[in-house]
Amino acid sequence: MYDFERLIAALTGHWYDSLKQHDVRFPTSEARKLQLACLFANIGQPVSQDTIDEWARELNMKNDRQPRHLSWDGWYVQTGRRTSTRMEYNPALSHDELMLVSVDRPNPIWLENKLFNEELNQKFPVFHQSIKKWQKRGCAMCGTKGIRLLPYQNILSSPIEDLHVPLCQPCIDWSEINSLTLEIFENKIVRPHLN
Ligand SMILES: [Zn+2]
Repeated sequence: MYDFERLIAALTGHWYDSLKQHDVRFPTSEARKLQLACLFANIGQPVSQDTIDEWARELNMKNDRQPRHLSWDGWYVQTGRRTSTRMEYNPALSHDELMLVSVDRPNPIWLENKLFNEELNQKFPVFHQSIKKWQKRGCAMCGTKGIRLLPYQNILSSPIEDLHVPLCQPCIDWSEINSLTLEIFENKIVRPHLN
């Protein structure tokens, strides 16, 4: 039997020492604690979903098979999934394996995004709030999703009362080079305003 409580106590200590200062969240749900404890017991080694399932059975706990959410809370976990955007891809891992890299350093991708968002929030507080409404839409001009969006301010009219529209970097560059004024239509579609 694994000493689950001892693993959680050790993790809590590491978290207090460094990760907490970076706003990494300590898990509260049973499943997430189980997954973190299992990854921590195997730190630096690949852990498969089956291994976590095995722990869940032995400890009579639940596994929701979503350990990747730990990386969204700032834990430095790598994945064998090449397409992952929120975790570093580690080619030594197989498709369904994860690996906890460190309990002193946060997930570098998470940290970079956090700092980027904090800076954006300071510069454009209104935009930062409104961007949540746009998240499913993606770049307001080309529709690209899952990338960083930046505020473009030269807007003609806005039926949704936003002061900025979120555009991807290439669309911002193109709009700025051509000094475009953008017009917002229904369904969050943005087009250049033609005089
Ligand atoms: Zn775009």
